[in-house]
Amino acid sequence: MELPPVQSFSPGQPLAVLTTQPLDRLLDYRAPEGGAQTGDFVEVPLGPRKVLGCVWGPAEGGLPVARLRPVTRVLDVEPMRDELRAFLVRAADYTLTPLSLMLFLATRAPGLFTGPMTIRVFRPGEAPARMTDARRRVLEVFEAYGGAALTVGEITRAAGVTGSVVHTMAAQGALIEGEAPKDQPYPRLDPARPGKTLSDDQAAAAAVLRGRADAFNVTLLKGVTGSGKTEVYLEAVAECLRKGRQALVLLPEIGLTEGFLERVEARFGARPGEWHSGVTITERRRLWRMASEGGVGLVVGARSALFLPYRDLGLIVVDEEHDSSYKQEDGVLYNARDMAVLRASLAQAQVVLASATPSLETWVNAESGKYHRLDLHARFGVAELPEMRAIDMRSEDLPHGRWIGPTLAAAVDARIAAGEQSLLFLNRRGYAPVTICRACGHQVSCPDCDARMVEHRFLNRLMCHQCGATAPIPTTCPSCGVEGKMHAVGPGVERLEEEVRARWPDARVAVLSSDLFGSARALKAQIAAIAAGAADIVIGTQLVAKGHNFPLLTLVGVIDADLGLHGGDLRAAERTFQLIRQVAGRAGRAERPGLALMQTHQPDHPVIKAILSGDDEGFWKAEADERRALGMPPFGRLAGIILSAPTLEHVFEVGNALARQTEPLQRIGAQVFGPAPAPIARVRGRHRVRLLVKVARNAPLQTAIRAWVGGVHLPADTRLAVDIDPQSFW
Ligand code: ADP
Ligand code: ZN
Repeated sequence: MELPPVQSFSPGQPLAVLTTQPLDRLLDYRAPEGGAQTGDFVEVPLGPRKVLGCVWGPAEGGLPVARLRPVTRVLDVEPMRDELRAFLVRAADYTLTPLSLMLFLATRAPGLFTGPMTIRVFRPGEAPARMTDARRRVLEVFEAYGGAALTVGEITRAAGVTGSVVHTMAAQGALIEGEAPKDQPYPRLDPARPGKTLSDDQAAAAAVLRGRADAFNVTLLKGVTGSGKTEVYLEAVAECLRKGRQALVLLPEIGLTEGFLERVEARFGARPGEWHSGVTITERRRLWRMASEGGVGLVVGARSALFLPYRDLGLIVVDEEHDSSYKQEDGVLYNARDMAVLRASLAQAQVVLASATPSLETWVNAESGKYHRLDLHARFGVAELPEMRAIDMRSEDLPHGRWIGPTLAAAVDARIAAGEQSLLFLNRRGYAPVTICRACGHQVSCPDCDARMVEHRFLNRLMCHQCGATAPIPTTCPSCGVEGKMHAVGPGVERLEEEVRARWPDARVAVLSSDLFGSARALKAQIAAIAAGAADIVIGTQLVAKGHNFPLLTLVGVIDADLGLHGGDLRAAERTFQLIRQVAGRAGRAERPGLALMQTHQPDHPVIKAILSGDDEGFWKAEADERRALGMPPFGRLAGIILSAPTLEHVFEVGNALARQTEPLQRIGAQVFGPAPAPIARVRGRHRVRLLVKVARNAPLQTAIRAWVGGVHLPADTRLAVDIDPQSFW
């Protein structure tokens, strides 16, 4: 789609509006009284409703002006800048997503309709007739804040008084009541405050990044966990703020934000704007507005922060750039890392991709010179990379139903004796991955999905990790009816916890698994407690692999290093490598050296060997060679087409129809595989089949796919989703 140039529309003139409604086209209206211009956010009538839209260009429908309904009003927010308009168009084209859905992503702030609201604030007035303790505290709060106007809530919290104290003071003239805009700018971050004294390595890297500010370029900042990547990219943030532009730092995990916000505050003297699912509605509206008005210098957020209406975005940092959570797998299928590069190219912004274990895509881009690369070699201070060793499970003496071998157990004993922490890593939630009947061999699976039900003792239920359905844990076999023979097979973190508690009854044990925490806050609290030393043994899923700082942790035990080596998944080796390196990086971050032990049945597997030898470059080279030979990403391109329907016949019919008319794909030399049942062949009662398109790197994949799927009739009950650059092969 072309981007229409900016244009002014006089009152009554026809114009096209992009709405967030699921339509595949723009809607025509008449400009309101006072006119409008491209980019204006507007309220327009649609049937009986009023919906949010954005003026996109001249009218397209060719209807006589008299038949067009007028735009209800232009909203009191900054118009969408050209840079964001262009970004939405390009991102929609790339991901084959309707533009309306992109606008939806860019306007996910409540209250855009209501306009700027005001709140009641107070300032000091005359001296109170009678001074009480409470009143004195109130006045002291104003002094502490330099006489700024404050809300009742702010005053009561800071002074420790009730609201009635404030209102009485106001009634007596000791406080003066007034109005202030509700959405206040964020406190200014001060880049001139001194940062930490950087090591030579870090200082050199920071200088290079500073030199690349204010223009579009991409730098891979690679360094082992703890080498100070964060310290270095905060210098790029400082430079961006000095230039008066805005910076965005994307983090993969909400649990990481609190620690990061504190580091920002320590460095720049104030907290940045925060954007993720845990942020209140009020804060979201404030941040959306402040991003567009320039009232926030730094935003820290999840991938959706990429769609905020920044006034002048000068830097995007993608921390832990390899993290799979950057790929949105629901709704709009986009990879936030790639979209960050796209947006930066349109905003003339710098990009920093930080990781200890970059994705193969990024590693190849750096290798080919498309991206710059900076390496931090040493860990900061005395901390060394942990020593890594494989434990060959073929020669470990392990009773049935136990998962911690004697070698690993002895290492944990030693840590407990030394007052240090151990982490046992197992990337499996729940108690046991399989529930089996010992009488007939039946395995309990989800009634709606082709997935086995995972036992969760914590919930006392079985749960499907695909659709979330739960069921009671059966005592009678649903298949043969025999009682008392149902049996849990294989380990999950909950079962591992049982083993740990039985083995080390006096140890303090903490389990970090995403489903054990009701809220992000509870998780944050647990992480902080562990960092402060509140646990001797930490049991965790991949949640722990995400950059937390546990200074007392000196041992990492990987319970099953072979998990993930047999996924049949293009990225299995890469994922295992990243995950184990990342987890191992948790050990020995402070003064004490760390040890990482990996329990494996295949100590000679190339991935395990590369991890052990610490030969990162060797691993990537080998993996890149293999992908190149196969024409697989990033040397070739893939797209997944996922069809789903309530009946298997229907979904295969459509899949076969697609597989028959591949004309547009043949023209670009693409291969088509399938239809085949998707690896998870049924989700929420819908059957799923997948076709996979593979093509050379530079072929016009999106255009061909659009022509291809556009040529097939889709029955009403069948859904089609296109996944460009699929990450997982669901
Ligand atoms: P990474 O992002 O590479 O994992 P961090 O920037 O988080 O590394 O640094 C790891 C730890 O070392 C942090 O606690 C950080 O504050 C500290 N650190 C790193 N560089 C310095 C420095 N130059 N001076 C003081 N502390 C530092
Ligand atoms: Zn299910």
